[in-house]
Amino acid sequence: MCNHRTCKNLRSRGAGRGVGVVVFEMYKGATPVILLGNERGGQYQGEMNLCAGKLEPHDKGCYIVAAMRELSEEFKINVPFSNFDNIFKNSKGRVRIIMLGKTPVLVGVFHGISRTPLNQEISRCNSTPGPHSQREMNFVNWINIQTRAPIDTQLPNFKISSFAQSLISKLDISRL
Ligand SMILES: [Zn+2]
Repeated sequence: MCNHRTCKNLRSRGAGRGVGVVVFEMYKGATPVILLGNERGGQYQGEMNLCAGKLEPHDKGCYIVAAMRELSEEFKINVPFSNFDNIFKNSKGRVRIIMLGKTPVLVGVFHGISRTPLNQEISRCNSTPGPHSQREMNFVNWINIQTRAPIDTQLPNFKISSFAQSLISKLDISRL
């Protein structure tokens, strides 16, 4: 078990074995957006969903390690530990977390994430043999959290998952 205050709190509050991550940005400095991924399979197949997954044995009960692993595997975003606090902690030094039922979702405020290289890496992984965990998304795209529409693109059969919809409803950008 890790010694993170965040993880201890989550364990004591009875959080489950799942964890999610919000990738938030102000798109072009003006539009609040989050990055969602189009799921290749499972419960939300074909829908736009948050990066999320289950704690695995090698995460050793650490929600932060699990969340950063999922972010790398599903969205191909690698957060160096030296940047974690800047991205995920609020002005009081606490990791921003929104609970969706028993699932904690870590909320990161990012700057300068570009879809193109992420989608290139996602395509590369999907077209090469490799572990399933690296091949869970078809692509990622920004979603405007006020209009709930995709940014700068038409997506056929566009649907935001119920899980992501719940998160968007709880996301208060004035408190980020
Ligand atoms: Zn931890």
